[in-house]
Amino acid sequence: MLQQHFPLTDRNTLRLVSEASAYAGFRSLAELIQLQGYATRAQLPLRVLGGGSNVLLSEKVNALVVQSESCRIQLVMQNDEVSLVDVDAGMNWHQWVEQSIAFGHGIENLALIPGTVGAAPVQNIGAYGVEVGEFIDSVTGYQLSTRQLRTFSAAECRFGYRDSVFKRELRNDFVILRVRFRLPRRFSPVVSYAPLNSLNAAEITPASLIQAVTDIRMSKLPDPANVPNAGSFFQNPVVSDECARQLAARYPDLPVYAQPHGAKLAAGWLIDQCGFRGKPFGPVAMYEKQALVLTTSAGATLADVRALQKRVQDSVYEKFGVWLEPEPQLFA
Ligand code: FAD
Ligand code: NAP
Repeated sequence: MLQQHFPLTDRNTLRLVSEASAYAGFRSLAELIQLQGYATRAQLPLRVLGGGSNVLLSEKVNALVVQSESCRIQLVMQNDEVSLVDVDAGMNWHQWVEQSIAFGHGIENLALIPGTVGAAPVQNIGAYGVEVGEFIDSVTGYQLSTRQLRTFSAAECRFGYRDSVFKRELRNDFVILRVRFRLPRRFSPVVSYAPLNSLNAAEITPASLIQAVTDIRMSKLPDPANVPNAGSFFQNPVVSDECARQLAARYPDLPVYAQPHGAKLAAGWLIDQCGFRGKPFGPVAMYEKQALVLTTSAGATLADVRALQKRVQDSVYEKFGVWLEPEPQLFA
């Protein structure tokens, strides 16, 4: 049902105060097309929201905001090696991870990431050495500008580090309706990251790996239900090898991870070194247990978040000469 002046404060994990001009859930392509017709007549852009765990909402979102309410899981094909499984965009991500092990493997390390299946390809969600793009066969959705149903192969999705075509050329123009996963049936756990590397590889089962990742995350990251946040607020910067060498010489404790091109620095460490951890700035702060996570308290707005974002960016740049880019997408 379409609703006017719809509050979004409870629909984003940062709990930023926000209201949309109009809002509706949809269950099918036909319903989405009807909503697009309404948006055109009302001269409103159409914006798609998932679980609201990676967005920065403005106080007034002048748009028709839509959310997929479709959660089907359908086995498309299975042989000895792989399963192809279609999952609708509205499915809760963690619930899908839990159910995925009945079909195949690979996404166990992505347990407990908040949000929906439809948003997972957008920033190619990743954790503990695994990225979802490695297990996506294709993504199907509706392009708003051309009014066409389109399917993108994994190569066409152009997955990168927390990046994809849906965050770039197709930003605000493509509503993902379902994701087709290609899951190997053989379980080969990725346990290269600490603290997963302390698990006994011979004893790990898919379910115990999901449990281990869940336990680690619950001990380290704030639960958005209690402490509003959007996960990592900044992306880990990738700098040139030369820049990383110079910084490591000056700061021997700086965590540096080699990449195919350049080196990745731990943004949380850089922010911590600038003294932001646990220090409140009005209703916003960088989290005391993980300085990369920005948390809010009641009444916080986008302006409060942007002010702290700028303070952090300026301080880190002044100290390390590295510019941090925020990870959550502006939703205005
Ligand atoms: P939203 O925040 O609602 O939307 C994000 C973007 O995707 C928006 O631009 C939106 O328009 C677009 N979008 C949403 N649905 C669709 C759709 N159906 N079609 C097209 N575009 C769409 N991320 C990681 O990568 N790794 C992590 O380990 C991780 N940990 C997190 C931990 C916490 C505590 C929190 C709060 C966040 C974390 N995140 C992590 C970030 C976030 O959970 C993911 O990016 C998630 O995929 C966002 O899903 P969502 O449904 O909430 O998307
Ligand atoms: P962490 O283990 O404290 O590590 C800090 C950073 O160092 C991570 O961001 C990670 O980069 C990098 N890192 C650690 N070990 C690495 C290795 N062996 N090889 C390459 N890079 C390594 O991080 P954390 O905050 O507890 O998060 C754990 C995992 O969950 C990470 O993969 C992180 O990305 C993911 N996570 C993401 C979000 C989000 O919102 N995007 C929120 C929470 C957690 P990578 O980020 O590149 O993995």
